Amino acid sequence: MYTLENGMLELVARGTGKKTSKLASHIEPITLSDVMVIRGRNHDYVGTSSAENCFRKLKEDYEKIVVAGEVIAGFNQIIKKNEVDENIFFLVLNFLHFLNDAELGSNELIILKIVFEIKFLKLLGYLPSFSRCSRCDERDISKLKYFNNQEGGVVCSKCVLAANEENVIIDEDLINNIKFLTKCNFDEILKIDISPKIIAKINNIVGSFKKYQFE
Ligand SMILES: [Zn+2]
Repeated sequence: MYTLENGMLELVARGTGKKTSKLASHIEPITLSDVMVIRGRNHDYVGTSSAENCFRKLKEDYEKIVVAGEVIAGFNQIIKKNEVDENIFFLVLNFLHFLNDAELGSNELIILKIVFEIKFLKLLGYLPSFSRCSRCDERDISKLKYFNNQEGGVVCSKCVLAANEENVIIDEDLINNIKFLTKCNFDEILKIDISPKIIAKINNIVGSFKKYQFE
């Protein structure tokens, strides 16, 4: 359970296996709940709890569940126990609200996931550099030709190590689109016009960078 006051908590919930359990519905995955935690000697327990938002529309949409599942799986892998960060709590909450409420096509769902991942990396202090060469600080966008996980961002054609298989070829258009997405709010996603091909490439870059940093 990810909490506002105490970060990630591991709690034991009693009696949730029963079909009539009221508690189970208040603490099912992807639910905003008000939960009282009971401290125990060996474990902490879920006390009284009441669901404030079950994100029902999200849970009725298979494509939305897939995106939420991917985002939450990655989140659980990175967030350590007892690290408190209310900005991260509200980022996840805003993401779930937007995913629940907005009408989103397949391309928009991928854009939403990318925007979430970028904001998440930024809060964790891991956002890669897209504006200047990670090695020599070159800022001329026309010279930034590669993205390299090891270097932690874009690299210019002078600095690139040719034999490095991590190099992803990029161009000005792609950099400008990524830079735009780093500043974008969730509700602006509905107005974005980026081709599915470029979105797929950005998704790969962000996904493999995250994998490189955290796996
Ligand atoms: Zn360089």
